[in-house]
Amino acid sequence: MSDTMPATSTPTQLNAATGFSFEITATLPAGQGRAGIIHTPHGDIATPAFIPVGTQASVKAVLPEQIRDLGAQAVLANAFHLYLQPGADIVDVAGGLGAFMNWPGPTYTDSGGFQVMSLGSGFKKVIEMEAVPRADDKASAGGRKRLSNVDEDGVDFRSPRDGSRHRFTAEVSMGIQHRLGADIMFCFDELTTLANTYPYHEASLRRTQRWAERCLAEHVRLTYERVGKPYQALFAVVQGAQYEDLRRTACRGLAATEHEGWRFDGYGIGGALEKHAIGEIVGWCAEELPVDKPRHLLGISEPEDVFVAVAAGADTFDCVMPSRVARNAAVYTATGRYNVDNAAYRRDFGPLEDGCDCYTCTHYTRAYLHHAFKAREMIAATLATIHNERFTVRLVDDIRNAIETGVFAECRDAFFAHYRRRQVQ
Ligand SMILES: [Zn+2]
Repeated sequence: MSDTMPATSTPTQLNAATGFSFEITATLPAGQGRAGIIHTPHGDIATPAFIPVGTQASVKAVLPEQIRDLGAQAVLANAFHLYLQPGADIVDVAGGLGAFMNWPGPTYTDSGGFQVMSLGSGFKKVIEMEAVPRADDKASAGGRKRLSNVDEDGVDFRSPRDGSRHRFTAEVSMGIQHRLGADIMFCFDELTTLANTYPYHEASLRRTQRWAERCLAEHVRLTYERVGKPYQALFAVVQGAQYEDLRRTACRGLAATEHEGWRFDGYGIGGALEKHAIGEIVGWCAEELPVDKPRHLLGISEPEDVFVAVAAGADTFDCVMPSRVARNAAVYTATGRYNVDNAAYRRDFGPLEDGCDCYTCTHYTRAYLHHAFKAREMIAATLATIHNERFTVRLVDDIRNAIETGVFAECRDAFFAHYRRRQVQ
């Protein structure tokens, strides 16, 4: 495995020397689920894997050393946020995202499309329990000013930081992500919502396909231009909401996309998902996408969703939820979620979760966490985040081990025999 590319590469030699590849080590007896290893220039990711989110090159409240110690194999940052602050050039000069944030392992960046288009309002809630298509496709939350507009070529938006005007296109997103230097990047895609109509989804999907083709072409150009840098893999993103025909069409289009002999290194499954349909949607995609390429499910981390998605063929996940809810005192356990700032824990000197091997549970009590949240001490967010990230990483690690040892169904049944038993306490 090389961590730089030779200076005189042809496309074929370049692919052989990228340091990026995926191998499958075990498969489930039914469906598309599997375990494997993603090799990147900055190390391996054993899959299935949960990838913690460090939106602004920081997993909020937690040191990279702590993220590594809790078992995370990679982190995912956001191209849109890093473009606005500190700027992709600064991260580039620092030696790329990992060097900049003192994270020695593999890194991901998402394209910024989600955040840019979230500014259009009505896009915040991507996972919904139930969707009712709107008649007009004008997604807008009550009275909130729209900050982004999509056209055929890209998206205009105003910075939520200072109101300045910006434009993202496929080429702009690739340029930013190449400068950020993550091992795995995502194509710039149009995010739709469950509220959009079918005809809008259909048109949007064609646009996302054209943008993916432009992303691949620009990625190839930049890879040659930036020769000598560690190879960065490019994943296309499958949209299509809850529609089987659109998801399958999107997968076939992206799987067939080629530029000068190059294809996508993997695929992201994104966009609007109804919770009850996650397994079905991932399954359609896994049937259509090349079996030898990794599949990343964007924005998922709830245990029930993870089991369903892995069984259906997802290899990696990212989500802000474990750290976001931790900062609000919500704690994940194998028996459900609870709030440690509840009065019941004021004199509870047990760990956040019995038997948990995380740093927080082996050194601190519920009573201390309860106090730290009540006193608004920053350490509360740090300690709760360490536990929730460890819980999610370990859950997916357990699932991987279960696949490799042929006991996935037993692992899932054992987990759900206990989970939910204590939703509120
Ligand atoms: Zn713990």
